[in-house]
Amino acid sequence: MSPLKILTNTLKQAGMRVTPQRIAICKLLSETDTHPTAATIFKHVQAQYPSLSLATVYNTLDALTGLGVVNVLGHAGDDNVHYDADTSPHINLACVSCHKIVDFASLQVASIDSEVSKASGYKLLGVRMMYYGLCPDCQKINVQ
Ligand SMILES: [Zn+2]
Repeated sequence: MSPLKILTNTLKQAGMRVTPQRIAICKLLSETDTHPTAATIFKHVQAQYPSLSLATVYNTLDALTGLGVVNVLGHAGDDNVHYDADTSPHINLACVSCHKIVDFASLQVASIDSEVSKASGYKLLGVRMMYYGLCPDCQKINVQ
């Protein structure tokens, strides 16, 4: 199943109507690796669907995060909640200066997941693993 299909199927599962607006939200989430905020998603999808409301963005995100196909990442030093549709085990690196978030693949994260679920008996629905720091670009700026 494509990443987009997984998201739209999840909305159906949550009992939501899969409207063109919600499909556009899912499409954006499934295609980006920039870890958008609700406001960013709203801005992009509203350009295409002017009648879109911020409430639709939030209730769509709530349904997707509630069923574990989108992760809530918390803020990147910018007081904005960021979302990630890549729920495979990975670390997110947030730059507290330019507020970008990048993915960092780590084999060790996968083994932490299985350790946690085995030892706790939990069916894990999501994980928020965020490291904060200064990205290489911002470190250069700060040195000058
Ligand atoms: Zn930066």
